[in-house]
Amino acid sequence: MDTETTTSSRYQIYPLVPLRGISVFPGMRLIFDVERPEALAAVDAAMEADQTVYLVAQRDASAETVTAADGLYKIGTVCRIHQVLRVPDEEGAKVMVEGVKRGYLAKLLAAKPYLTARVETIQDEPNLRTAVKAEALIRQCYGLLEKYAENSGLDLADILRDIIHSSDAGYVADLVTQNIYMRHEQKQLVLEELRPMRRLALVNRLIRWELDILDMEQSIHEEAAKRMKQVQREMFLREQLRTIQAELGEDDGYGDDTDEYRTAVANAHLPKEVEAKLYKEIGRLAKQPFGSAESAVLRSYLDICLEIPWQTETEDNLDPAAVRKALDEDHFGLEKIKDRVVEYVSVRKLAPDQKGSILCLLGPPGTGKTSIALSVARAMGRKLCRISLGGIHDEAEIRGHRKTYVGAMPGRIMAGIQQAGSRNPVMVLDEIDKLGSDYRGDPSAALLEALDPEQNSQFRDHFLELPFDLSDVFFITTANSADTIPPALLDRMEVVEFPSYTDEEKLAIARDHLLPKQRKKHGLNGNQLRINDGAMREIIARYTRESGVRRLEQQLATVCRKTAAGIVAGQFKCRYLRAGGLEEILGPAKYRDTRSEGTAAVGLVRGLAWTSVGGEILDAEVGVMAGSGKLELTGNLGDVMKESARAALTYIRAHAGELGVEPEFYKNRDIHIHFPEGAVPKDGPSAGVTICTGLVSALSGVPVRQDVAMTGEITLLGRVLPIGGLREKTMAALRAGVHTVIIPAENEPDLADIDPAVRSALNFITASRVETVLDAALCREGSTDAI
Ligand code: ADP
Repeated sequence: MDTETTTSSRYQIYPLVPLRGISVFPGMRLIFDVERPEALAAVDAAMEADQTVYLVAQRDASAETVTAADGLYKIGTVCRIHQVLRVPDEEGAKVMVEGVKRGYLAKLLAAKPYLTARVETIQDEPNLRTAVKAEALIRQCYGLLEKYAENSGLDLADILRDIIHSSDAGYVADLVTQNIYMRHEQKQLVLEELRPMRRLALVNRLIRWELDILDMEQSIHEEAAKRMKQVQREMFLREQLRTIQAELGEDDGYGDDTDEYRTAVANAHLPKEVEAKLYKEIGRLAKQPFGSAESAVLRSYLDICLEIPWQTETEDNLDPAAVRKALDEDHFGLEKIKDRVVEYVSVRKLAPDQKGSILCLLGPPGTGKTSIALSVARAMGRKLCRISLGGIHDEAEIRGHRKTYVGAMPGRIMAGIQQAGSRNPVMVLDEIDKLGSDYRGDPSAALLEALDPEQNSQFRDHFLELPFDLSDVFFITTANSADTIPPALLDRMEVVEFPSYTDEEKLAIARDHLLPKQRKKHGLNGNQLRINDGAMREIIARYTRESGVRRLEQQLATVCRKTAAGIVAGQFKCRYLRAGGLEEILGPAKYRDTRSEGTAAVGLVRGLAWTSVGGEILDAEVGVMAGSGKLELTGNLGDVMKESARAALTYIRAHAGELGVEPEFYKNRDIHIHFPEGAVPKDGPSAGVTICTGLVSALSGVPVRQDVAMTGEITLLGRVLPIGGLREKTMAALRAGVHTVIIPAENEPDLADIDPAVRSALNFITASRVETVLDAALCREGSTDAI
C-alpha cells in the first residue's frame, strides 16, 4: 500500500458542471463563464441547496453536451460557489468558485434538467515521515517557479511567497498548477495524482518542460529579431549609398539598367529560346533590391550571355589549294594531317551541312600537333580557341557551375566559344589523354557530350542553362598516348598519328621553320645569325634527345638570345655558327656520343628500345666471373625483362656445346647483366636477343660487333619473335652510328613504314632464330669480320 497518502471517503450527491479546457484545484478560487443551459441549471440548483457543486473536465473540450459518464474525466473537484454574476440581457453567467476537495465521479445519476452525480470526496493527508523530501520538492519547485516568472514575465510574487511558507507538497502542486500556463491535459494529470509528493514531482517536471519551451521561444524570437534588424540595416545602407551616389553624380543607373539590358537583348538577334530566357532573367533582376548579391549574379549572367556568339559565325576559306599553301607555309612534312584537313575542306565545299569529324592528333611531345592545329584555324580563316585538358578532374570545369554557386562561371568549352567570338571556331583540346576523373565527377562524360555529333547541337552548360549548337565547331584534340584516352571518347575521334622526326627531318624543320621563327622573335635578321647544317646537326644530336623538336627550338631560342645580347653589348655584329663552335653558347654537350667506342667488345651489346619519347639505344653489359651459378640483373629492370634474361640463359644451357660455352657454367660461374643509365626504368620483352647475345659473348669470350644493333623477343627454344616501335628504334640506331640492325623476321613488313632516309642508310638482317642473330653479331674466328 502507498504510505504517502491515506484517503477518507464520503459519498454525496451534487449537481455537476462539466468544464471545458479548465480545471479547479482544492483551495483555489476561479472565475469562469457558464453558458450552456444545463450547466446554468446545475449552478442554480446548487445555489438553492448548499452552494456546493461538482466540477469535472470533459474529455473532449469541444463537445457541446455530455450525457454519459465516459465523456468526463473520473476526478474533478467539489467546489463552493461564492458568487454568480448574471449580465442583464445575456444568457450566461460568471461564476466564482473555490475548490474544496478532489472528488471521484462514482456515478452519473441524472442528465436532465441538469447533470447530477454521486461523488466520493478524496482528501490528501500529509505524511510527516517524508517531510524532508516534501521540503526538498517544495524548494525545487520554488527555484523553478522563480525562473519561470523571470522568463515568462508573469508576476508570481504572491504565489512564491505562499510556496515558501507552505509545507504541504500537495497544496503547493495545486497552487502552482492553477496559476501557470499548462495544457489542460497536463492540469488534469496533476488533479488525478492523489499522492502529494508524486504530484509535486510531476509539477516540477512540467515546469521544467515549460521552461525549455520558453527558452526555445526566446531564441527563436531573438534570431528573428536579429535577422529583421540586419535586413533593415542593409536596406537603409543601400538607400543611403544610392542617395550619396546620386548626389555625387555617380549613379551608375544600376537601379534601372534593366531597360538597357532589354535593348541589348532586342538588338542581339538571339535564338528565340535564349531571348525568352534572358528577358525572364531581366524581369528577375528588376525585382531585386539595389546592390543585392543576387542582382550581381544576374548581371554577370546577362553580361556573359550577351557576349556568347549565339549566331555570329565566320565564313570558311574553302579553297583547298589555298588551305594547303597556308599549311605548308607553317609546317614541314606532316603530310597525313595536311591531306586530312584539305579533304575536310573539300567535303565541306560540296556538302556544307555535313557534320565534321573530330580529329585526334596522336604522337610524342613536340611533333607539332598543337601548332598544326593552330595553323588549321589560320588556313581555314576560322577563329581559334585552345583548351588545355591536362589535369582537369572536375566535370564542372568542362560544363560550368550552376549560377547559384558562389563565383560560378561557364565551363571551359563555352568560355572558349565566348573568347573566340564565333560559333564555328577551331577548338583545340590539348592533352585529352591527361584528363582525370574522381569523386568530383567525370569530365570525359561532359566532353563526350560536347564532341558527339549526335548530341552536340544541344550542348548545355550548367551556368548558361541554355542549349548551344556546337555542331559547327571544328574539334581537334591532341594526345601523347591513346592508352589513357577514355575509350568512349577515342571511339568518336579519327586518330591521325604523328611519328617521331628523323634527324634529317629535324634539320629541315630547324633550318626552314624554327630558326627563322626564333630569329624573328628575338629581333634578328638572317645576316646577324647564321647556323650551318653541321652546327644544326650537332645541336640535334648532342644537345637534344627527343622525338619532336621542342628542346631543339628551345636551344635555338638560347642561341638567338645570346646572339642578341652580344650584338646589343657591341661584342660582335653578326654570328656564324659552325660545328664545334657550340660549347661557348650552349655549354657542354648534354648527351654523350652514343657512337660505338670500338669495333668489337666482349659482353657489350647494343640493343634498341622504344619509350614514349621515341627510340633509344640501350646497351647491355654482361660480366662473368668464377662463382656458384648466381644471376644478377641490375639497371632498373621490369619483370618482363628479367624473365627474358632467364629464358636466354636456359637456351644457352641447352645449346652450350654448339655455342662454344662451357657446359657447367651454370654451376661454377656468376653472371651479372647490367643496363647502364639506371635512372630510366626499362621493361618489355624486346631486349631478349640483346641479352642472349651478351651472355653468349661473355661466356664464350667471343667479342660482339659494335656497329650492329638488335631488337627482338626470344623464346626458350631460340625463336625470335616480333616487336613494336621499329620506326623509332631504327632512327635511334642511325643516330648512334650503327650500320647493321638485326630485326625479327616477322617484322620485315614493317620496314615499309620506316623513313626512306633511315632505310637506305642501314643494313637490315632479319632473324627468325637466335643462331642467325649470333652469327651476325659475334666476331667468331674464321668469320670475315673478325678483328
Ligand atoms: P606538340 O603539340 O606535338 O607537343 P608543338 O605543336 O608544341 O608540339 O610543337 C613544338 C614546336 O615545334 C612548335 O613551335 C612547332 O611550331 C614546332 N614544330 C613541330 N613540328 C614542326 C614542323 N613539322 N614544321 C615546323 N615546325 C614544327
